[in-house]
Amino acid sequence: MASGEIFDVVVVGFGPTGATLANLLGRDGHRTLVVERAPQIYTLPRAVHFDHEVMRIFQSIRLAERILPHTGPVEGYEFKNAEGKLLMGFELGETLTSQGWQADYMFHQPSLEAVLREGATAHRKVEVQLGQELVRLEQELDGVTLGLRSAEDGRQTSVRARFVVGCDGASSATREQVGLETEDLEFDEPWLVVDATTSRPVEELGFPRVPLQHCDPRRPTTAIPVMGPYLRWEFMLLPGEGPEMQEPARVRALVSEWVDPDAIEIIRSAVYRFHALIGRRWRAGRVLIAGDAAHQMPPFLGQGMCAGIRDADNLAWKLGMVLDGRAGEGLLDSYQRERGPHVRSVIGIAVEMGRIICTQDPEIAKARDAQMLSGAGGVAGASGGTPASMPALPGLSEGLLEPAPRHPLTGELALQATVRDGQGREGLLDDLAGPGFTLLWREATSLSDRARATLERLHVRQITFGSTVDPKVLRLDDPTHAYGAWLDRHGADAVLVRPDHAVFGVASGARDVDFLVNALASGLAAEADAG
Ligand SMILES: Cc1cc2nc3c(=O)[nH]c(=O)nc-3n(C[C@H](O)[C@H](O)[C@H](O)COP(=O)(O)OP(=O)(O)OC[C@H]3O[C@@H](n4cnc5c(N)ncnc54)[C@H](O)[C@@H]3O)c2cc1C
Repeated sequence: MASGEIFDVVVVGFGPTGATLANLLGRDGHRTLVVERAPQIYTLPRAVHFDHEVMRIFQSIRLAERILPHTGPVEGYEFKNAEGKLLMGFELGETLTSQGWQADYMFHQPSLEAVLREGATAHRKVEVQLGQELVRLEQELDGVTLGLRSAEDGRQTSVRARFVVGCDGASSATREQVGLETEDLEFDEPWLVVDATTSRPVEELGFPRVPLQHCDPRRPTTAIPVMGPYLRWEFMLLPGEGPEMQEPARVRALVSEWVDPDAIEIIRSAVYRFHALIGRRWRAGRVLIAGDAAHQMPPFLGQGMCAGIRDADNLAWKLGMVLDGRAGEGLLDSYQRERGPHVRSVIGIAVEMGRIICTQDPEIAKARDAQMLSGAGGVAGASGGTPASMPALPGLSEGLLEPAPRHPLTGELALQATVRDGQGREGLLDDLAGPGFTLLWREATSLSDRARATLERLHVRQITFGSTVDPKVLRLDDPTHAYGAWLDRHGADAVLVRPDHAVFGVASGARDVDFLVNALASGLAAEADAG
């Protein structure tokens, strides 16, 4: 039976996407229920890598410091041919990027999920029900009724919500219930994933020092020193091979080509199909999908989970604005409009990497090697043994952004650097500024009454690195001159940043801050009308 209570949002699935979304909604004070089919955390890792943008999102839910101990360093990423020659290499490292964090982190997924879950559960307005499977969804005009089945005794109950977000993974029941279809992006390969631990230092085992794609057509293999005692192999299955490859004797034979099998303990082996697909629509009325429920990609770029966490970050503030009446429901359509093209291009890079490694034809592999060793044919210019940076992920190209002609910074992630406040506290910008829309001024000047009212209504925080007499503008020091240099480089007087850290627009020259603020108000109104 549905109780009288109606939740603002029910999040279906407590994986990394759902747990991040619950943290964001809980932080912003929205009454949230998470329902998760499994009684406990899935104890085996799948994802092993996330990037600086994701760490910035974890920072925004105040969990970065608790997540850091579960991460490890990563210096590079290599693609080698069967003879061990470097076909393509990427330099990673511990240098901080424009997001205030390292570009890349290796991590232990069950530990990360535990921190995310603790964080979500600690919010007063977040309730979590484990062992509850979504089995039915009915949309009404003013809300959604969800039918749940208990894993313990099969008892069925129901709850109501204003919005539902299905973060319930690849075989999403939410997606099925509301009839959202997926588009196959034509990558579907079976791989055997093997995880192991060792009590010996990884380098003593002769295991690769950095993640390696061994592009050997006889058995394309990924070998990853994850962090601490954890090692990962992903072995591509050959024609005719299937689930029998998970058997211990076969796994032992495969890993013994890499290390002494007695020096490690295999903790799991599982066959996965590495897919590429994307939902055609991510919203049906009051029901939305996110993470693997909305898109899946092969793991060669280590971006599947990252994409789900970006979804959560894009969607949470939009749901918040709709829930508290600052925007109309149409704003929710900008979620797919913004995230869809982004995730498609990330899937494209992952698939491109996959096609390089998955070649099983020796002749094609030979031609590939010759081409890449001659300095052509890699991904993002990384070929012929010259280490390059990881392919840059795109910014947002459409959605809630300043009107054209757009500044080149629009849609990109805004800088996060160290700042200092009036009390001498020094820290990363987001820690001192807090979440939400932010207007970063070089020098705060006066605004029209209309723009001031908009800033107030939309809860836009104003920060200046110069002078201000306005008590509503927070004055921060820029001790490393990172912001000064950034604003100079982009010829910007002010930058209006969205809650997900994407730049909404830039004030420079004729386009002043008044224009920008009014453009945000009209953009929000237009999104609402479009919906
Ligand atoms: C071998 C491998 C390596 C990978 N490596 C990386 C990597 O390095 N970096 C990266 O970013 N990504 C990587 N990925 C992808 C990443 O693991 C997934 O994209 C990520 O786990 C998706 O998170 P999610 O929360 O969207 O879905 P899931 O993790 O699948 O979570 C969905 C949750 O919903 C629950 N659920 C399902 N149905 C219901 C229901 N009906 N009712 C209630 N609850 C339900 C499930 O129990 C589960 O807890 C990898 C994947 C694989 C397979």
